[in-house]
Amino acid sequence: MKHIASCSFGKDSMATVLLALEHGEPLDEVAYCEVMFDEYTSGETPEHRDFILDCAIPFLERNGIRVIVLRSPMTYLQSFYRILQKGPNAGKLNAWPLCGRCCIQRDCKLPPIKAYRKTLREDCVQYIGIAADEGERLARLDGVRKMSLLAKYGKTEKDAAELCKKAGLLSPVYRFAKRNGCFFCPNASMNELRHLYDRHPDLWSKLIACQNAPNKATERFNRSYRIDELDERFCAERAQLNLFDGNWNQAA
Ligand code: SF4
Repeated sequence: MKHIASCSFGKDSMATVLLALEHGEPLDEVAYCEVMFDEYTSGETPEHRDFILDCAIPFLERNGIRVIVLRSPMTYLQSFYRILQKGPNAGKLNAWPLCGRCCIQRDCKLPPIKAYRKTLREDCVQYIGIAADEGERLARLDGVRKMSLLAKYGKTEKDAAELCKKAGLLSPVYRFAKRNGCFFCPNASMNELRHLYDRHPDLWSKLIACQNAPNKATERFNRSYRIDELDERFCAERAQLNLFDGNWNQAA
């Protein structure tokens, strides 16, 4: 019987793997799905992507766990520039994914995961990274073919982060975000977006370029703002900060 873990390399799935190793739970392979922004650019926040490639995957391989990397042939940009065929927006660009109804999940994440699952035998056991304090999500697991090691060993989300930290395997993404998601996620917090603007101007400018596309089904990047509005806001905040720093240095 094969045992696999779905892993985004966030704290819950990483802690699941650590628990399997600690308690000698069977684990044959880890499946990771990477959403791509375009053919060459990962959809992961760069700090998280570097952590996966330089730290997490080598750790698993050193421990004899095979890592399967899944990718959809469809990228974020292909989804963005797809022309809608039906509905009130037929003829327009699909454009930005919507909060709560993310088409990237549907187009770029789920298809390779479903295709991978089809290759597994029916008796395969999947470890899912759901913590002991996530009752509603846990209730959806059957506990036999899909089970949570975090629940089995009574580990909460906070415990999961601690486990990863102790092992030196907590993604740096948690320094500025509560969750790990695509850098273009419409659910990203202001902190995450400001981080992208400040630290990854190359990725930010790729999003700004999308805003210039005409005939979009939706103009807003997230529930409240267009990406150019966010750009103006962050630019103004930076100018304010520079002014403050300037005054401070003069006074000093
Ligand atoms: S992290 Fe955000 S953008 Fe990425 S698939 Fe999930 S909801 Fe969509």
